[in-house]
Amino acid sequence: MSSLFDTHAHVNFNAFREDAEEVLLRAREAGISVVNVGSQLSTSRRAVEYARKYEGKGVYAAVGLHPIQLRKRSFEHRDDENDWELPATEIKTIGETFEYDAYLEVARDSHVVAIGEVGLDYHHFEEGDEIDAMKEEQKRVLREFVRLADEVGKPMMIHCWDAYDDLLALFDESSPERRGVIHSFIGSYKTAKKFLERGWMIGINGIATYSDSYDRLIREVSLDQIVIETDCPYLAPVPHKGERNEPLLVKLVAEKIATVKGVPFEEVARITTRNATVSFFPGA
Ligand SMILES: [Zn+2]
Repeated sequence: MSSLFDTHAHVNFNAFREDAEEVLLRAREAGISVVNVGSQLSTSRRAVEYARKYEGKGVYAAVGLHPIQLRKRSFEHRDDENDWELPATEIKTIGETFEYDAYLEVARDSHVVAIGEVGLDYHHFEEGDEIDAMKEEQKRVLREFVRLADEVGKPMMIHCWDAYDDLLALFDESSPERRGVIHSFIGSYKTAKKFLERGWMIGINGIATYSDSYDRLIREVSLDQIVIETDCPYLAPVPHKGERNEPLLVKLVAEKIATVKGVPFEEVARITTRNATVSFFPGA
């Protein structure tokens, strides 16, 4: 059995409130390591709690404040312009004020392998939003997280939607000591290259199975610079699109990459797992 690494999961979210334990053990039995990623302080703390509870069983945590969590919102996520057709998802956010010290404390925990998800999201602005002010706020918080990641010496897990240029500019100006993963990467190869040249990995998930739109990207990016993820409970790969996703299904993402690149599944499993290990446990 080849091991796999789901580098971005949210088994710490309420969608798994009833059966998180079974879901994590199922992944464990299939040889899949999991990073549960926080999107606010409460889910970050829960990610750490699970990593402690399943210590030695391939369950780790990332802690951060997702840019859309900076404002209180409730929306149905429906995106018809995109050819990969994101399944409709209801998202409620709380409007959290970022507190450096609170995140620093939780980030220092030895079970935390990355700082995220943090980043920029210009996709979810609504009518009436003060867009410039909101962009500045997101950038200010992200710079603080770069500082925090440097302080604890851990890599970053970046969320970025419709903001790759600003993200690159911010990285060039603040230059994080350790890089990390641009998760759920949905840009072009040209954009990917700019991140890869700066030492980042890109995270590929179920979106790659929805159409052939990302085949070219997958073919052109070296396997050495790809990690795989589910982003569960969202983005279940085909043929489970629209269902609740879980770490077990990361196998379908690896299969898609193997098919597109024309390499054996085993090779995708081995190299993406190695990439994740190098990113999260550089000394190991
Ligand atoms: Zn996520």
